[in-house]
Amino acid sequence: MSQFDHKRLFLPGPVEVRREILEAQTAPMIGHRGGDFAGLFARLQGKLKRAFFTDSRVVVSGSSGSGLWEGAIRCGVRDGRKVLHLTGGAFSERWADVSRANGLQVDTLQVDWGRAHKPEMVAEALGKARYDAVCAVHNETSTGVTNPIQAIGEVVNQHDDTLFFVDTVSGFLGTELRVDDWGIDIALTSSQKAFALPPGIAFAAVSDRLLERAKTIRQRGYYFDLLTLEKSLLKNNTPSTPPIALMVAADVQMDAILEEGIEARWARHRAMRDATHKWALARGFGLYAQAGYRSDTVTTIENTLGIDVDAMADYMLNEAGFVMDKGYGAIKGKTIRLPHMGDVTMDMLNEVLCGLDAFMA
Ligand SMILES: *Cc1c(COP(=O)(O)O)cnc(C)c1O
Repeated sequence: MSQFDHKRLFLPGPVEVRREILEAQTAPMIGHRGGDFAGLFARLQGKLKRAFFTDSRVVVSGSSGSGLWEGAIRCGVRDGRKVLHLTGGAFSERWADVSRANGLQVDTLQVDWGRAHKPEMVAEALGKARYDAVCAVHNETSTGVTNPIQAIGEVVNQHDDTLFFVDTVSGFLGTELRVDDWGIDIALTSSQKAFALPPGIAFAAVSDRLLERAKTIRQRGYYFDLLTLEKSLLKNNTPSTPPIALMVAADVQMDAILEEGIEARWARHRAMRDATHKWALARGFGLYAQAGYRSDTVTTIENTLGIDVDAMADYMLNEAGFVMDKGYGAIKGKTIRLPHMGDVTMDMLNEVLCGLDAFMA
């Protein structure tokens, strides 16, 4: 049995959160219009900019990541113009739905689930029509695919009027992302994936170009209006009451991440990915994602051995003390996701893999 006093999460969000981070949330509350809060905001701002590799700014949102999906498209796509969504998994398809729900004209560049988007495909699409923005998912958490964001960014950046929006919800702080170098206008993320914080706070690196675009759009919505967020940000503040306890936790977690080193953190994720691949292939499982584009933060295993996923999850919960994933969306049951992300260590990963071996024995 587990030495831990609770069942540990082995889910692709929310992920297991270290005790120190949970406890950071219990600091006495501060008011968000006072100097202590401005200090916290400024401190966190500096660390987040390093984490996103940006010199511009990182907005903090009291929401999950989905809210910033809406903020990006509302502030970036003009009336009567089109947005191109690169789809091929549960999350990229849902982001396109968000654009449709906001009344935008949406084109999709659909690939089969498990495949990556290639820069040539994007170049072709951009040659055929004009778009105000291209929306891509960095790490498609349902399929375990990482898209070649840097190469896609080079293509998008050849079109002056087309902004590049990236969902890096399950990539950020788990796999390489360089916002400024890769020409990204918004890189949005949630707290409960590789950042290894509790859910309820979201972050986005936002370019000057996107803010300039937003100024030309009259109806940007309210809660996720990037111009309102920017106005407060310049005063180290937020327009409405922020998730203060989560910001304190984020500040402490960023210290730990910078201490580990962002590149070292990426390398740790990659090593866990390799170990997971080795384990899965040795047991006769397939890997769902296309070779060459397999995620560093989550491995989606094809259930080629036909194991009973519900029985597996029950066994892991009761005998190994882990809450396991059972696949997501259209591929639930056919796939199992092993999320080696956040503060998961090789030791914890090995415990999970040993538990799975015991189940299958
Ligand atoms: C989890 C996830 C989301 C949704 O994020 P929320 O924080 O739940 O709103 C979006 N995109 C990707 C790639 C995800 O993994």
